[in-house]
Amino acid sequence: MWLVCSNRCGAGIFRSLQAEVDVDAAGAYESHRFLQPGFICVGCGAPALDLGQVPAEMAADAEEDVAPALLDVLCPVCETAVPVLEVEMECPNCGAYLEPVS
Ligand SMILES: [Zn+2]
Ligand SMILES: [Zn+2]
Repeated sequence: MWLVCSNRCGAGIFRSLQAEVDVDAAGAYESHRFLQPGFICVGCGAPALDLGQVPAEMAADAEEDVAPALLDVLCPVCETAVPVLEVEMECPNCGAYLEPVS
């Protein structure tokens, strides 16, 4: 779970709204459970948003985007990142000679 204030006020403190206590017929305490995340920002009272699931999904996407074997070489002239195979080539941006990766 990663809570943020929907007003982005930056207080960083949140209060749970939904803590439900179950009791049995005799009124004895049975369990304490949290329902769906329901939190408010203590700083400004706005509803808090749970971003806890988002970074994990973004990280999964990023891993899929990583190219498996190619190495990027920075052009010494213009610092363009060039994926280099094991052959010599020219920078596609400025035409500088790039040494092959061995
Ligand atoms: Zn707030
Ligand atoms: Zn270049």
